[in-house]
Amino acid sequence: MERCVKCGYPATTLMTYEYGERVMAVRPIDTAVRPQGAIGLCAGHAMTRTAPVGWRLIDELSSEMPLFVIGDNRDGP
Ligand SMILES: [Zn+2]
Repeated sequence: MERCVKCGYPATTLMTYEYGERVMAVRPIDTAVRPQGAIGLCAGHAMTRTAPVGWRLIDELSSEMPLFVIGDNRDGP
């Protein structure tokens, strides 16, 4: 079983790094073909990961969320 590299709990997500593109991605571990260099993270550690300065973080864990928040009125009270 894949384990979190931080705490040793069972991993639920994979984090991958693309150094050329400066992109980090987190995705569910059970739907992904394991990419080379991927590391396992538990849910807690996956949620607290942040991309280094100059990097982009792609969160595929929340892909079920709507892309747009309808009715988001930033000028409102
Ligand atoms: Zn962990």
